[in-house]
This record gives sequence, C-alpha cells and structure tokens, in this order.
Amino acid sequence: MRTDLFALRHIGIHEDDLQHMLKTVKAESLDQIIAETIPSDIRLAHPLQLSKALSEHEFLSHLKTLSRKNKLFKTYIGLGYHDCITPSVIQRNILENPGWYTAYTPYQAEIAQGRLEALLNFQTVISDLTGMELANASLLDESTAAAEAMSMLFDVRTRSQKNNSAIKFFVSQEVLPQTLSLLQTRSKPLGIELVVGDHEEFGFDEDFYGALLQYPGKYGQVYDYTSFVTKAKEHEIKVAVAADLLSLVLLTPPGEFGVDVVVGTSQRFGIPLGYGGPHAAFFATKEEFKRNIPGRIIGVTRDADGQPALRMALQTREQHIKRDKATSNICTAQVLLAVMAGMYAVYHGPKGLKYIAEKIHHKARIVSQRIKRLGFEQLNTSFFDTLKINVPDTDRLREISEQHGINFNYIDKNTLSISINEATHDEDIKPILSCFLQLKAQKEENLLSEPIKDVIPKTLLRKTPFLEYEVFNSYRSETELMRYIKKLERKDLSLNHSMISLGSCTMKLNAASEMLPLSWAEWGNLHPFVPLDQAEGYQEVLRELEKDLTTITGFAGTSLQPNSGAQGEYAGLMVIRAYHESRNEGHRNICLIPSSAHGTNPASAVMAGMKVVVTKTDDKGNIDLADLEEKAKLHSGNLAALMVTYPSTHGVFESSIKYITKLIHDHGGQVYMDGANMNAQVGLTNPATIGADVCHLNLHKTFAIPHGGGGPGVGPICVAEQLLPFLPGNPLIKTGGSHAISAISAAPWGSSLVCLISYGYIKMLGEQGLVNSTKVAILNANYIKERLSGKYEVLYTGEYGRAAHEMIIDCRPFKQNGIEVTDIAKRLMDYGFHAPTVSFPVAGTVMIEPTESESLAELDRFCDAMNAIRDEIAKAAENPINNPLKNAPHTLKMLTNDEWDFPYSRQQAAFPLPFVSDNKFWPTVRRVDDAYGDRNLICSCAPMEAYLESE
Ligand SMILES: *Cc1c(COP(=O)(O)O)cnc(C)c1O
Repeated sequence: MRTDLFALRHIGIHEDDLQHMLKTVKAESLDQIIAETIPSDIRLAHPLQLSKALSEHEFLSHLKTLSRKNKLFKTYIGLGYHDCITPSVIQRNILENPGWYTAYTPYQAEIAQGRLEALLNFQTVISDLTGMELANASLLDESTAAAEAMSMLFDVRTRSQKNNSAIKFFVSQEVLPQTLSLLQTRSKPLGIELVVGDHEEFGFDEDFYGALLQYPGKYGQVYDYTSFVTKAKEHEIKVAVAADLLSLVLLTPPGEFGVDVVVGTSQRFGIPLGYGGPHAAFFATKEEFKRNIPGRIIGVTRDADGQPALRMALQTREQHIKRDKATSNICTAQVLLAVMAGMYAVYHGPKGLKYIAEKIHHKARIVSQRIKRLGFEQLNTSFFDTLKINVPDTDRLREISEQHGINFNYIDKNTLSISINEATHDEDIKPILSCFLQLKAQKEENLLSEPIKDVIPKTLLRKTPFLEYEVFNSYRSETELMRYIKKLERKDLSLNHSMISLGSCTMKLNAASEMLPLSWAEWGNLHPFVPLDQAEGYQEVLRELEKDLTTITGFAGTSLQPNSGAQGEYAGLMVIRAYHESRNEGHRNICLIPSSAHGTNPASAVMAGMKVVVTKTDDKGNIDLADLEEKAKLHSGNLAALMVTYPSTHGVFESSIKYITKLIHDHGGQVYMDGANMNAQVGLTNPATIGADVCHLNLHKTFAIPHGGGGPGVGPICVAEQLLPFLPGNPLIKTGGSHAISAISAAPWGSSLVCLISYGYIKMLGEQGLVNSTKVAILNANYIKERLSGKYEVLYTGEYGRAAHEMIIDCRPFKQNGIEVTDIAKRLMDYGFHAPTVSFPVAGTVMIEPTESESLAELDRFCDAMNAIRDEIAKAAENPINNPLKNAPHTLKMLTNDEWDFPYSRQQAAFPLPFVSDNKFWPTVRRVDDAYGDRNLICSCAPMEAYLESE
C-alpha cells in the first residue's frame, strides 16, 4: 500500500472507518450520500482535468526547482515595499508554528487571550508611532487602507456642519501609484470625485470633504504638512495621511500635526515581501471615529471574576454586521502578519527600532552624498530612506544595474529613485555606486571622507518617545522572547489542539508541506514590482493556480488579486458593473441578495454602487422562489446581479438553483456566487454548472491557507467568458483583462506568497484527492448530524434529509431552561473544543462544519461533548442561573480555589467526560464582560494594573 499519498494525510477518514460511518448515516455507499445531497442536474459529467497528484516529497522538490527561477536581486524599488529582516525567533515560533497560524478570528475571547494580547501590542505600536488615539488590528494592504480612509471620512462628513454636497477628495500627486489606482476604483461607485494635484497648490475649496497625503512622498521627499493640515481644518476638510511606519521613528508623527486618519503598511516590521503580500496594513484615527473605523479593534475588559481580560471591542460596530448600512466590507484581515509585526517591535524595542531607522537613514545619506559627488543631482532636499536622482539615461543605467543584480525604481527617462532598507548592508553601498560610476564611464570614486550632513529639518524630527510600555522593553534575550511567544500561544486554542468546527469558515488541515516553502528566501524576498523575468518561478505558480481554479469552477479565467473573500465579492461586482457599462447598460444597479446571506454581501454591493434588494427565505431555508420571481420582474430593467451562496448558508444544495440563475439571466442580470462553501462542491459540481457568471473562492477556507487568527486570506474571483476582459489590473505591472478595471489590491497578484499553499494543496491532492475531500466533508457533516439527532434539531436539510458539508443546530428551545447559545459555546471550551459558528446565519443557533480533515475519533469526541452538554442543558432547568453552562468556561484558578460553592462537582466542571483529562485545555480567563469593555474602551497596552486602578 502506498503510504506517501498526500490524500491519506489530508483526509481524516480512512477505509476502515467507512463501514461504521455509512451504517450510522444509513447509506450503502459514499456515493449514495452524495447522490442524496447534490441534485443530479448539477453533477459534473466528467472528472476535472488536473495534473496527477504529487507526493509531499515530490511537491517540495518541484517547488525547489521552481524557486530557482526567481532571481533575488538587491532591490531598492521601495514604493511601499522594503526588504527587511524577520527575526528568526519570530519566524520559527510564529510564522512556522501551527499554534499561531491555524487559529481562528478571536471571537471566543476566553480561548484567544494570546493572540488578543499580541494584537493589542500591534495596536499600541501603531497608535504610538502614528501619534493617534486609536488603531485597529490590521487591514489588508496600504492601498485598501487608504481607500477605507477615503470612505470613512466620506461617511462622517455629514456629522460636521458641512452639508452633503461636498463630494471631492483631494489626492496628493505624491501618493503611491497603486494607492491612486485603488482610490479610483473605490471612489467612482460611491460618487466621490477624486482630484489629484500638488498639495502646495491646493485651494481648499468648499466642495472638498477630505484629502490624502503621503508621508514621506512616493519618491522619498519629506514634506512639512503642518500648514496644509491647519488650513484644511479651517475649511472642515478632513485629512488622511499614508505614512511609512518605520520613518515615524525619526519623523514627527502625523497625529502631532492634527490629521484625522493615518494608514500604511507594517510590512517592513519583519514581514517577508512575498511578491506582494500578505502584510498587515494599519488604520489609526481619533477616538471620535471609534464607531466608524473599519476592521476589528481589540480592547481591554474584565472577566466574571473582575480580572483583566481582552476581547474584540465594539463588535456590533464591526462594519459588515451593518449589512447594507456598512461603509466597509472588511471581514478577514491580516492577523498573523500583525502579530508578527507587533512582535518585531517587542523584539527590537524602541531602542532597536531607532537603531534600525537611523542605520537606514545614515546609509541613505551616504549614498546621496557620494552620488552627488559623482556629479549627479539628488532631488530630495529632506528624506528618510529614499533618494530621487537625475541621470542622463535611465535605460542605460538599468542595463548596468541589472548586470550587477540590482533593481532601482525607474521613474522616467531621466529620473530614478533608490530606497535603502533594513537589509542593506555596508557592502551593498559600493555596488550601488558602481552602477553610477559605470554610467559615467568613470573608474573610481574619490573616496575622500566627508561628514554626513543632516537632511531632515529640526521641525520634522520626532521628539515624543514611543513604546515605553514594559512589553516593548522586557524580552531582549531569545530565551525570554521564545517563552513570551509560547506563553501567549498556550492561551489559544488552535487546530493543533482540537477540531474547530466553524460553519462557513472551513477550518481544515493546513499541511506542513504546504507551509514549508513560505520560509524559503526565493519565495519570501521578492518585491512585487520587479521585472517579470526575475519572477518566473512565481509567474509559473500563479498561472498554474489560476488555471486550476478556473478548471475547478468551470469558468474561463481567474484573478488572484483580491486578498480576502469580501474583496473578491467587491471585485466580482465591480467586474459585473464594468460589463453592464460596456453594453451601455450602466444603469443596471439593483443587486438581489437573499436574507440569509453573509453580511459582507450587502456591504460589498453597496460599495460597488449597487442598491440592495433583499429577497425572502422560505421556512425550509431555501430562497423563496415566488418572492425572487416577483422582485426580478419588478426590477427587470435595472437588475445588475443576484448574489447567491451555494450550497446555501443554511447548508443545503437548493435544487432550484438552475431555475434561479436562468431567471436572473432572463431579466438581464448576472449571477454572483459567494464561494465560501466551495468545499461542498469541488469536483462534484461547480459554479459554471449551476449557471453563475462569477464567484470568489476563499483560499483560506476551501484551499488550505491557514486562517492565521483572522487573516491572511486570498479571495480570487473566477469568471465566465463575457467577464474576462474586466478582470482587475495594476498600474505598474500588467495583469488582468483587456479592459481591466483599476486595482482591487495594491499588489498585482495580491498575496502571492500564500498562494503557494493552495497551489500545493491542489497539486498534492490531484483530481481524486480533491473529489474525495469533498465527499468526506459531506459524509462527516452527515455523520455528526446523525450522532446528534434525538438530542438536537437540525434546522434545514435537503430534499432527502441530508446536510451538505455543514448544518445548523437550533438552540433557541433551550431558552426555556435559561440557556443561551453563548452558554453552549463557552461550555464547549471546558470540553476542549472551540465553538461552532454562533448565530450565523440564524440567531440562536450554531453551525457545525467538520471538514474532511477530522478523524472519526475526533468527530466522536465532539459529538460526545455536544450530547453531554445537551444533558446538562436538561438539568439546568433545576437551577437556570447557577450551572456548568452559565459558569463556563471554568479556569484552573477557579478549580483549585479553596472555596467551591457551586451546585456541581469540580470534576463535572473541568473533566466532564473521560477523554477531556487526556488533553485538557485550560481557558485562561473566565467569561469576558463585553458591555463593560465597550463602555470603557481601552485599545492599547497600558499596564493592566493602571487600567484597573483607574476604575
Ligand atoms: C467567510 C465568508 C465571507 C467573507 O470572506 P472573508 O475572507 O472573511 O472576507 C463571505 N461569505 C461567506 C458565506 C463566508 O463564510
């Protein structure tokens, strides 16, 4: 028997388990279950055309070979991306550690205190360095963060005296090109008018509501924006600044000259370039905008014992929960990368960051002075790390520098810029200068040493100290930092402890072989804007992944650019919009969305300038056909699209799906399929077959990219033929369709580095492994459904009573006994499990999705836990306020307290089933108090004691 098949490692159920499971679910064969789950009219007739499965070892040697096609030049391109050094202790203990990368978004705070603390550190770094009051726990990239600032300020403008007629947004010509492209994409559907110009000549007219500046400018000049901001304030124009985080160590923070928002990327805080991403962007603002800020904020609160605890603050203001009232669709962000960037600051501390920034600045000044002495003009009068240089002929210089293995940023025929970075060593300076010497046909530089001159005016130098908190000044030795990272990791429940059955989120195995190449320099250290011939390894992987995803969805083409599912939704709808416009049907703006849809759907539709019309769901959880027909007919002339999740968020393959998609087409609309549930389709059916025109895939759900505690993600869109021309482009590197819409993400291929994971997933499973994964995912869900039957009621099933790959369990009846769905979620922690998805898409329910990666033994443990909890619920009727559910989770401190006056035993509290003690997970805090934390919002890491004293 072959034991090197990856499918054996990825799929948790094996041949020997099948008979027992089939008997439990009352089926003769796996195929019978599939036949009873997926309607026959949408089953694929032919196997997918994919290359044959590679073993893990074959895959790794294949990727090694490909990696050699990426050429690692010394790259000084800058433009928001800089080579930097990932401290090894962070690489090994976080980036390469499943304890960190397999965690989910910290919705269950009691078993997520570790990453919550790490994120609080990140927020503190951002608010300290930018000089702002509040920072969120990351956004997707600098350019989308700038677009979020533009939208947020547009939304809040109505609150000032200013009337709604101010619709212009000023963008400095110093803003990064990819950011400008993104602002173009995002402004148009919202009715915002962009005006690009020189900030020194800006007129501060009444019809402007906001402005965006870049600090330092895109080619390195450091401007003094004080008078701009003062004048803007006088005219009620809000100002956002896109800032280089590391430069703020030396420069006056934007918060100190009064700006309203600061955005940027934390990439150069130890995050590999990865040919464009993933990296954590930041968004910092004033306290007054705390309810408008996009993304998640981590805050301090207290637990049931009054002890300090962390959780996601103000969750109800999380934008996509507001559906079509949202101003942002951000869901998945960049948590793992934010954790790493925050830890980089813990590793270096304020002194280390200052050392790095000064070292870079010093080298930049050396290069500037030497180049000037060679007779070239250096145009930046004040700079941090980037020089702008005039040369007679950039083409010639490019030839020379590429021979030296060096990339500069070539602006036009006569100008280029050079950005020095953390990885620029003393030995690297000479080769840079050699290029210029050679351009002048000069042999040697006059090496007379001269003193290095100051170039930043005193008024622009930072005077405020930063990162004075203990956490940034404690862990200098590797032993200490390793233990700090471990201490945090131990507080968090991740996939390396037990099953995380989050419905819709698909928490499957993130295999080690898929992850390993992320650490290789040939993949990690490539700048997104290098010439294509230096990135042939990447180009091959990305093209091949696009091709495979196109095959899997049955469509005509794929764009990997969107870096989350929600960004994919937005991209797909913008592509639909461009399609309608190309046919002179730009008036089509109605988007039908079933009421059960994920909150990001309506949020994305509104951002794409569409009007959301909600359609009803019938009592079986299916789309209400009569209602849909009526609304499609009513809006026939203006119908832009239907957004439909398939199988539905109720975990059912609706058998009328083909009728539905045809109906939409008959009324001139396009069908957008939310592909979050693609794990139930791969190889058995596909979006093209059901009649959709475009879908996004969550590579961080179906295609094995780890969730990272809330990101990274990749949300590619796959499209039918007629939408191909409109796939998104990039202003610097050609990508996308022949009539590409402007950028959706900053980098041409989004988060390329983690695309290696999905590439590996597909290449190692092959057609057979992928199909079997889907089948087993469906089998596992149906197995759980059978094992819980009699104890719980499953809300929706298909025509034959089968679940798809997930199911919803009704917890509302337990209210009779005083038990809420939250109590069940918290009680599961005592049994060593993370709760399933709570209250989505139906309030008062949980949605369970086991995936194919879980073993029969783990499924049984989970079912045993759920069934035992059901008995506890029954018993809770006796004492609805004091029982194991209400008091959950139980901490070790509670258990070992000398006093124990609960009406159940300690054993019942902490070891309710025999298997629990073998692998006990201790939540480190008791149940957190959300309301308290929201009333007393604290989002940076001032010492907890100070916080408690201030009460
Ligand atoms: C996860 C999910 C999304 C959003 O994806 P993100 O990557 O978090 O932006 C959209 N729709 C459904 C049904 C989902 O489960």
